[in-house]
Amino acid sequence: MHKTSPALLVVTYHYIRDPESVRYPGIHPVSMDRLRDDLERMGKAATFATPSEAELFLRGLAEFDGPRVLVTFDDGLIDHWHAARDVLEPRGIKAAFFVSSRPMADRRALLVNKLQYVRSITPPEIFRRHFYDHVPPEAGLLARQPAFRKKACDVYIHDHEEDACVKYLANFSLGFDDTEHLVDELLAHRSIDEGELCEALYMRPDHLRRLHADGHLIACHGHTHRPLGAMRDAEMDADVSACQEALHWILGERPGWISFPYGRGDAIPRDPGRLCDMFGFRVALTLSPDWNLPGQDPLRVRRVTENQYTALLENVPHVSGIGERRVA
Ligand SMILES: [Zn+2]
Repeated sequence: MHKTSPALLVVTYHYIRDPESVRYPGIHPVSMDRLRDDLERMGKAATFATPSEAELFLRGLAEFDGPRVLVTFDDGLIDHWHAARDVLEPRGIKAAFFVSSRPMADRRALLVNKLQYVRSITPPEIFRRHFYDHVPPEAGLLARQPAFRKKACDVYIHDHEEDACVKYLANFSLGFDDTEHLVDELLAHRSIDEGELCEALYMRPDHLRRLHADGHLIACHGHTHRPLGAMRDAEMDADVSACQEALHWILGERPGWISFPYGRGDAIPRDPGRLCDMFGFRVALTLSPDWNLPGQDPLRVRRVTENQYTALLENVPHVSGIGERRVA
C-alpha cells in the first residue's frame, strides 16, 4: 500500500509564447510545447485539481487522497486564452486565471508588461542609455555605488550586472508612478500606442466569458497591478474594488478569489483577512513557494512559478495521519 500525501501544489504561469519570437531579454516566455511537457510531468506525479476542489481543500471542507496540482495564470495575457484552447481543454484541465482590469477598462497596459515589452524590443545597451536619460540624475548616481550594485545583483541573480541595476532602480528605488511615467516616455519615443499594445497583449471580456463558461475560474489580480501591501488601505480597497466590479460586470458574478500582484514580501497586504472579508474573497494566493498542506491559511495560499515547481513535485511532503488513515 503506497503512502498518500493530501497536499496541493499551485503553479502559476505568465507568458506562454515562442521564445524565438522575443528579440532581446525582457520577456522570458515558456513555449506551448514546454507547457504541454510540464503538464504531462505534473500529471504523472499528481492529480489535477479543479479550482472548486482546491477551494474545498484550502478551506478545510474536503480532504485529498493524494497530491494534487492546480494550474493558474496571472495578468490576463492573451497567451492564456491560446493555452486554454490548445493545451488545457484537450486534457480536461480546469485552471484559474487572475486578471488585472486596467487594460480592459482604461486601455492602459500594466507597468510590468510595458517595461518587459520595451526591453524585449530594444537592444540592452540602448535600453540602458534611454533609461538613464529619463531618470533623475541622483538615481543614475545611486546606480554607480558598489553597495547598490551588489544589492541589485543579489536580487536579479540571472541578469547581467548592468541590467540588474536598471531593474532594481525601476522596481525598488523609483516610485511606481515615476517608473510608469518613465516607461510611458520610452513607449512614446518608439511611437507605440498603449491601446494597441493592450489589444495585442491581453484577453478581452469575450475571452474571459468563454473561459468562465467552460468551467475555468476567473478572478481578481488588482486593477492597476500595483503591489497592494505598498498602498494605504483606502487606495488598496479602491484598486481591488475596481477589479472586482469590472469582472462582476463581465461575468455576471463577483469573483471570490484574488492573487496578490507580485505576491511576495511587502507586496502582500499587511492584513489579508480585513481585505478578504470586505470583498468576500474566500481564497487569496501569494507567491510563497511551497506545498499547501491541510490547515493552510486559505488567505495566504502558497504558489510556485513555472520555474520552481519541479523540485517541489519531486519532494511531495509526507503527511502522517490523514492520508494514511484514508488509505487504511
Ligand atoms: Zn501579476
